[in-house]
Parts: sequence; C-alpha cells; structure tokens
Amino acid sequence: MIVGSGPAGLTAAVYAARANLRPVVIEGLGAGGQLMLTTDVENYPGFPEGIMGPDLMVRFREQAERFGTEFVTADADRVDLAGPPFTADVGGTEYTGRSLIITTGASARMLGLPNEHRLLGHGLSTCATCDGFFFREQEIAVVGGGDSAIEEALFLTKFASKVTLVHRREELRASKIMQDRAFANPKVAFHWNAVVEDVYGDTKLEGALLRDTVTGATSELPVSGLFVAIGHTPNTELFKGQLEMDENGYIITQPGSTRTSVDGVYAAGDVQDHVYRQAITASGTGCMAAIEVERWLAEAAHAAESR
Ligand code: NAP
Repeated sequence: MIVGSGPAGLTAAVYAARANLRPVVIEGLGAGGQLMLTTDVENYPGFPEGIMGPDLMVRFREQAERFGTEFVTADADRVDLAGPPFTADVGGTEYTGRSLIITTGASARMLGLPNEHRLLGHGLSTCATCDGFFFREQEIAVVGGGDSAIEEALFLTKFASKVTLVHRREELRASKIMQDRAFANPKVAFHWNAVVEDVYGDTKLEGALLRDTVTGATSELPVSGLFVAIGHTPNTELFKGQLEMDENGYIITQPGSTRTSVDGVYAAGDVQDHVYRQAITASGTGCMAAIEVERWLAEAAHAAESR
C-alpha cells in the first residue's frame, strides 16, 4: 500500500507494480502533489523541451496504471501502523497492505493572499531551484527571514538583477553565516518590517503590495517574480505518534535507506526530505522504497516458510 501520489508515490507504484506486488495507491483528493501547483518543469530529465507540472504527473500516473496499480481517489482518514498488515481507512472502506510506503509529501507554507492561487506558477513561486531560471536579468523578491529564504535569495542572484528580501521584522531568523552571505551580496536588498498583503498582475505577476508592520503604511513593490520561502510543513498528521519523526514532523528514515522506525513501513519523497525537495529526488527515493519493500516481503516470506 502506498499513501500519497506525487513523484515519490507514483515511482514507487511503477516499481512495485512491475515487481508484481499489486500496489494500491491512496492518491488523495489533491492527487499529484506539489507539481500540480507548478507550470513549466524544465529540470526533470528526459523532457528537453520542458513539460507542465500537471502533465508530468498525468504521465507518472499512466505509467503506474499501465502495470496494474490500483488507485483510490480519496484521502485516507486513518492509517494504522500496528501491522503488518497495515490498514488505511478511506471514507469507511478499509484497505490493507502487507507493507506500506508513505509518500504524503510536504506543503510549502503559503501567505494566504487574495490573488495567491491565481498567480502561483505565473511569477509567484515556492521553489527557487525550480523557477529561478525564468527570471534572468529581472527584479524579483523573496518573502521570509529564515535559512530557506536566504538560501533562495542567494541562489536567485545567479539569475536576477536584483533580489529584495521582504521580512516582517528587522532581524533575520537565519543562521549567522547565511545572514553574512546575504549582507555581502550586492544583488540582495532588504525590505524590513513588511508583510505582503497581496500580489497583483493580470496574467503574470507584476508586483506585491506591502504593508509596513511598524507604521501601517502600504506600498507597491514592482517585481516580476515573488518567491514565498516561509517554510514547509510535512504532511504527517496521519502518522503522528506511530513512528519516529524529527522535531519539525518529518519522518525519520535510516541513512541510505527509506526504512522508518516501524518494520515494514517505508517513507520516500518530501515527507522525509527537507533538504532537496525535488521531483527527481522524490522519484529516486520512491524507487528505493519499492525495491526495499520487495526485498523485505521476500525475506518475510522466506522466514515464514522456514518456520
Ligand atoms: P523557518 O526557519 O521557520 O523560517 C521561516 C521564516 O518565514 C521566518 O523568518 C518567519 O518570520 C517567516 N514567516 C513565517 N510565516 C510568515 C508569514 N505568514 N508571513 C511572513 N513571514 C513569515 O523556516 P525555513 O527557513 O524554511 O527553515 C526550516 C528549517 O530548515 C530551519 O531549521 C533551517 O535552519 C533549516 N534550513 C537550513 C538551511 C541551510 O542550513 N542551508 C537551508 C534551509 C533550511 P519570523 O522570523 O518573524 O518568525
């Protein structure tokens, strides 16, 4: 059983299905994961012309389906890790797996702006690695004051002519070394004590509306790109208290493996990775998880036979 249907879950499904493990994917109502919220994907190998995020996920799904993956298009209400077998309650129907791969991903924290959803993927982004390339010689902004925001801002200076970091206080949360790098970079400007009230633009982002947190004054920041970097939340609510997680709620996997603290339960993709967060790395760990499951099931069968 695989819970989650982004690149990690669907890659695990392709491998598991081709290994005759008859995977069932609880794909959720928001099937497809974070790539469903992006437009052009130019860094997924094998697509030299680029591909739209949702189109890529349709292909992932078709490939998993071709080898016999069963899909359940609903959210799991409960997942019980007291197995094996492991069970998921989906709207009153119970699904069972002899082993479980968790690929529920993470969600970028958003600001909740009125025009946020409309302009996401059209100048508004949550991933500099993914979208920085589209902003060569342009003026852009990053929201946030933590290590992620600084990392994104510094990365974006490779492309943009100017990167304005918008932070709601006048002191960064980021580590000292990251702060020093940002202060030393002539392309990075700082807009302190400001929150983004909204983004504007017709079909593409043209700027952000800021409010000063001290004076209350509003102003416009004309930029063609705005990167929201206020953190991510792993989607691990379903598994709380059932397996080991770090202090931020990411599932802990053993180094070089997708094994979790529960025997027979594996985790792949962003739900256990707060460092790389790429479709290709999620796919890579999804593949690892399916191979590890296959071996684990074979060993369990062998142990049962010799008993
Ligand atoms: P974070 O440390 O939680 O920082 C989030 C930042 O966003 C904070 O500055 C926060 O402001 C701001 N923020 C949160 N909600 C906001 C809102 N609604 N409006 C405006 N601003 C908002 O998250 P992170 O930067 O993603 O880092 C997460 C963890 O990963 C940290 O432990 C970090 O050290 C680590 N990390 C490390 C590296 C590295 O070492 N290279 C890179 C990335 C991440 P306030 O400061 O006012 O709270």
